Amino acid sequence: MTRLKARCPRCRAKLTAMLELGKAPSCPACGHGLPLPQEQLARSGPVQVCCVCDGAQFYRRRDLPRGLGLIVTASAALMFLILMAVGIPFWIALSVLLATAALDAWMFRRLKEVTVCYRCEAEYRGNRLDPGHRAYDIHLAEQVR
Ligand SMILES: [Zn+2]
Ligand SMILES: [Zn+2]
Repeated sequence: MTRLKARCPRCRAKLTAMLELGKAPSCPACGHGLPLPQEQLARSGPVQVCCVCDGAQFYRRRDLPRGLGLIVTASAALMFLILMAVGIPFWIALSVLLATAALDAWMFRRLKEVTVCYRCEAEYRGNRLDPGHRAYDIHLAEQVR
């Protein structure tokens, strides 16, 4: 099942919906109805046309809450400094740092990817990815807007 997270094109309210066959999502704030999701999207296929803005350009990104990776890295570095400060041998402190980095990398690999619409930034989760979609491209983003 594909999950949609977007902003209402009329009132900009946050909108989340499960895209189901024959069921058009609507805005919880103003009642604005979106068009019916395409059949292949409702069947968890890759998104080809955005069901919020009709855009056809998408990019993929890891479904990482913004800043989480940074927090993990920063706290590992802080831990390293604290361990050094209290006189823990360097190699133990270093292995804590390396273990955190490994954990971080492992977490990153396990994260699902999300498809995002260039034009309206609607996010599509849980569906198959289109191999033609690439990572965010600033030039493409400028063309679409
Ligand atoms: Zn609305
Ligand atoms: Zn869109």
